[in-house]
Amino acid sequence: MNQPNEPVKRFIAGAVCPACSRMDTIRMYQQDGMSHRECVECGYADSLDERGNSVPKEVPTRVTIQPSSKPAATSHVAQFYPNPKLKKKDS
Ligand SMILES: [Zn+2]
Repeated sequence: MNQPNEPVKRFIAGAVCPACSRMDTIRMYQQDGMSHRECVECGYADSLDERGNSVPKEVPTRVTIQPSSKPAATSHVAQFYPNPKLKKKDS
């Protein structure tokens, strides 16, 4: 029987988990019109938005001090440069 709430999860060959850096532990599936990934090794899970950007589901609860800049992993990192000189409202 098919259960609509149980999406088909497929392993992604060659995919490296961004959390535990293991290979071939990532499963991907579709749900709610989005692609989701999960690692069967460490439980890491994230989603991919329509642009293919990673959207982490959970922040790792490890107590480690993380600098604001992430180490460059296999996934692309979007960088934002806040501009303090942004125009303010002139009346
Ligand atoms: Zn992992």
